[in-house]
Amino acid sequence: MTIGEAFDRTVARYPEREALVVHHQGLRYTWSELAEAVDRCARGLLAIGMRPGERLGIWAPNCAEWCIAQFASAKIGVILVNINPAYRLGELEFALKQSGCRWLISADTFKTSDYHAMLAELLPELAGASPGALQSPTLPKLRGVISLGGQPGEGMLGWRRLQELAERVGPEQLRECGRRLQFDEPINIQYTSGTTGFPKGATLSHYNILNNGYLVGESLGLTERDRLVIPVPLYHCFGMVMGNLGCLTHGSTMIYPSAAFDPLATLRAVAEERASALYGVPTMFIAMLDRPERADFDLTSLRTGIMAGATCPVEVMKRVIREMHMAEVQIAYGMTETSPVSTQTGPADDLERRVTTVGRTQPHLESKIIDEQGRVVPRGQIGELCTRGYSVMLGYWNNPEASREAIDGARWMHSGDLAVMDEEGYISIVGRNKDMIIRGGENIYPREIEEFLYSHPAVADVQVVGVPDDKYGEEIVAWVRLHPDRAVEAEALRAYCKERLAHFKTPRHIKFVDDFPTTISGKVQKFRMREISAAELG
Ligand code: ATP
Ligand code: MG
Repeated sequence: MTIGEAFDRTVARYPEREALVVHHQGLRYTWSELAEAVDRCARGLLAIGMRPGERLGIWAPNCAEWCIAQFASAKIGVILVNINPAYRLGELEFALKQSGCRWLISADTFKTSDYHAMLAELLPELAGASPGALQSPTLPKLRGVISLGGQPGEGMLGWRRLQELAERVGPEQLRECGRRLQFDEPINIQYTSGTTGFPKGATLSHYNILNNGYLVGESLGLTERDRLVIPVPLYHCFGMVMGNLGCLTHGSTMIYPSAAFDPLATLRAVAEERASALYGVPTMFIAMLDRPERADFDLTSLRTGIMAGATCPVEVMKRVIREMHMAEVQIAYGMTETSPVSTQTGPADDLERRVTTVGRTQPHLESKIIDEQGRVVPRGQIGELCTRGYSVMLGYWNNPEASREAIDGARWMHSGDLAVMDEEGYISIVGRNKDMIIRGGENIYPREIEEFLYSHPAVADVQVVGVPDDKYGEEIVAWVRLHPDRAVEAEALRAYCKERLAHFKTPRHIKFVDDFPTTISGKVQKFRMREISAAELG
């Protein structure tokens, strides 16, 4: 089944039920109203010359148009290229060029309200060109820009005008286009976060992401009576697949509280919409728990949700369950390359399992944990986690070499994450293999040292990396951020470690910092820390 067929089926089943609520835009759609908007947008895209297999970029924060563009492009087989709204010009140019986008939908980004000026800088040729006739020497494939909201800039096509152009394309042409699509064709390119290097464009099919959204929703027990608040970004698979496609495949309601994450707007959306489910990364839940105004919002309608993307501290999990009424909240693990979810805890898993593991392998997928020679390790031993099955991407866009490195001849996706599987199949993530430190032949997992250093009262945050060392191969460096009103000497911290950690795990160097190098989405980039420390110490 294609995403377009799944969409039509849900519309036919639940025409009058609510499909989408966008709080910050004051918009509401039933499934039949959403279908009308989606069809119109799809016909508009055909009218401006978009054809199956061509790429359409979307560089916008969460909004109704994002959802409409997602389903409209899927209906005509146009490959949607998700672009992080926080990307600046260089990153935007990279994504547009690498994926070969023909059109770009753009709107105010998180950090600037002046995307017109940014685009004018990137595409000076826009000025004077008529919409759709762009000829850019730097982006030769790009024909035009569709602007959301407000006055479109010079040379841009307004969203409203796109809807008017739809009149030129009849419903039969749209249906015919949909009939020719295949479920295993690419429909989406999503760039990885860039935590371990340059972002790579994971190419995903209808089959990949539709089934992943469906199975995530199944695990949560979603039905047409559920109402899911989605504060996570749509450009990421958490929002687009687990959120939008999880709802689509169950007839549940998608609720967007704000353009970019806002703890109060999210709490308000839950209370006002009587939502039954809520998504977030751990830091979002922490931000909501920290707001004193939380008591003003009635969260008793909540039942379930997902926390994913990073490990959740025990205390946070306990408070989410107790104070946010999310008794059935689940943990999920995955990566962009696997659509994303590959393991998930179940509704019956106890608290311990939900904080120490990322659950078990999703139905219809396989997991294995291997050593450096590719042999499966015994249960309880650390190795690299690999995934195989329906959710593994088609490959990295236009990068066969990186694809071959990630997906082996037997279709196993090598995650680059170190993990342990217990006797019952529960998996725990230990860290990334690139971040593992080998000192004097000893394997050292930074996470263990980081968790230990967190326990020091002066330490607010800490990240541990290895740097080359003549004697031991690698030495340990800890980057430490202190609480603003606390002080501690490097020597005192080392003494603290020596008392309680094996001697070879005590960081040789300690560097006090105010910040860590991160990706735009806030993931710490250890490869950059390694480069900086190696240069400083070398
Ligand atoms: P890049 O591949 O560009 O270096 P990235 O791997 O951070 O960036 P994503 O695909 O967004 O890009 O993130 C997937 C990674 O996030 C996983 O490989 C894993 O390291 C981490 N991750 C995801 N879910 C969890 C979780 N529940 N617990 C711990 N880590 C997680
Ligand atoms: Mg990755």
